[in-house]
Amino acid sequence: MSAAAESSQTTTTNLRVAVIGGGISGLAAAHRLLSRCETVDVTLFEASQRLGGIIRTEEADGFLMELGPDSFITNKPGGIQLCEEIGFTGQLITTDSRYRRSLVLSRGKPTPVPDGFMLMAPEKPWSLLKSPVLSLAGRLRLLSEYFVPPRGSSDDESLSQFVTRRFGREALDRLVQPLVGGIYTSDPDKLSLKATLPRFPEMEASHGSVIRATLAQMKARKNNPAGSAADEQGSGARYGLFTTAAGGLSDLVTALESNLRKHSGFHFQRGTRVKSVVPVAEGRSGWLLTTERDTHAFDAVIITLPAYLAAGLLSHPDCAPLQAQLNTIEYASSAIVVSGHQLSDFSNPMDAFGLVVPAVERRKILAVSFSSRKFVNRAPDGHLVLRTFVGGAMQPELMQLDDDAILNLVNDELRDIFGMSREPLFSEVVRYHRAMPQYHVGHLDRVAAIEDSVGRWPGLHLAGSAYRGVGIPDSIASGREAADQILCIAGATAF
Ligand SMILES: Cc1cc2nc3c(=O)[nH]c(=O)nc-3n(C[C@H](O)[C@H](O)[C@H](O)COP(=O)(O)OP(=O)(O)OC[C@H]3O[C@@H](n4cnc5c(N)ncnc54)[C@H](O)[C@@H]3O)c2cc1C
Repeated sequence: MSAAAESSQTTTTNLRVAVIGGGISGLAAAHRLLSRCETVDVTLFEASQRLGGIIRTEEADGFLMELGPDSFITNKPGGIQLCEEIGFTGQLITTDSRYRRSLVLSRGKPTPVPDGFMLMAPEKPWSLLKSPVLSLAGRLRLLSEYFVPPRGSSDDESLSQFVTRRFGREALDRLVQPLVGGIYTSDPDKLSLKATLPRFPEMEASHGSVIRATLAQMKARKNNPAGSAADEQGSGARYGLFTTAAGGLSDLVTALESNLRKHSGFHFQRGTRVKSVVPVAEGRSGWLLTTERDTHAFDAVIITLPAYLAAGLLSHPDCAPLQAQLNTIEYASSAIVVSGHQLSDFSNPMDAFGLVVPAVERRKILAVSFSSRKFVNRAPDGHLVLRTFVGGAMQPELMQLDDDAILNLVNDELRDIFGMSREPLFSEVVRYHRAMPQYHVGHLDRVAAIEDSVGRWPGLHLAGSAYRGVGIPDSIASGREAADQILCIAGATAF
């Protein structure tokens, strides 16, 4: 044990917690610990010089570019709650209502997603009937879901199985796969419905059909507008379904960092990669955490890294079963090409939030987000910022290409799909190697087994996007929950 570890053991009676990873999960965990407890010392270990992890915003020449996530959903409370707690809500903006619609590539042409189509629930059947995205037979098959009897089992199934069974293959191939695939960059034959979109099997179970449940919800909203408005207020509807920071999501990271620095119990080990996390000794509580430089002792540790990196840290032989369980969670790699353009360089009006691309279209891109249409102040007047997604679980081979080849293929697709007539003013490839956890069928059982194993190690906690939700709000919620567990145990045993 290093001198640092010895001294922290002898000079403080505070609860000593290590948070590993300075992404949004780690920041949320550290914030929760320090804002809920005055007698806690939190050391945040971050391998890079920068906080935020996947969240990264850049500005240049009047363009504001999100290189990672660009917004977060508000109907899950984690994100809004954290913003409220740090006084950040004044900086949240909602999407630009002028362009609030999405496109799907349909037989080579960008075509509006039918109005009211929510991932797979058609809120406006008439609009679906008029849409050319599906053949007439495909539209009728989708709407006949109303009459499809429910499955008599609550076992997990894949997105493909559920959607084909209820709505037909064409609905899967041409609408649901691209809309859901854009979120998870996943293979729909493997994606767990229960872990990703649990509300749809719940709708089937409660009403016998997703369409029946959707109509019932719409009727309830109509009959009780005040009640549903109050519900929506509580779930963040005042910010719209998606929100972001006016100055980019890195501002949220900066605000969190400033907030953490106000606490005397906050210690930040920037540029410090943790190499291992091992139990102090047989029969004694506590964890030894080794970095490239030294070893520190802590009462509790929250690891907020991707599951396979968490596994790599837990090198003690007794942790081998947990390590093996963590390694069963697969990850996909992807790249985002962020590019700036003059609007007049496109023959397409680009008047939507973005385009999703069905795998059956056999293109080399997954989706294009029209960033500066989605949110204001992302590009100078007459200009456009695009974020084009490449790779994912369905096209891993594209990640082998070098940056120039990726830029070329993206430009070819933009030319072909949107009539882009000139090279972008700038473009940048941002790679995400094994950054997107794949929630395959059975994921929730795998996570329950992991949680069971972790529960056998007092003081060890896991958080992050690997387990119970891939987006920012779920990552925040996981960090907060780990912090609460530590504080709850600490309160119970009077550390
Ligand atoms: C391309 C892409 C786009 C996305 N878009 C959206 C979106 O628009 N909206 C949304 O809600 N979600 C989005 N997500 C998901 C969201 O970004 C993540 O869920 C969230 O940012 C994960 O945060 P995290 O803190 O768990 O992990 P990370 O952000 O990965 O942070 C982990 C941190 O740990 C550090 N680290 C790694 N190893 C060590 C070590 N040994 N020691 C110390 N530190 C270490 C890393 O440097 C990193 O800073 C997107 C994800 C990707 C990949």
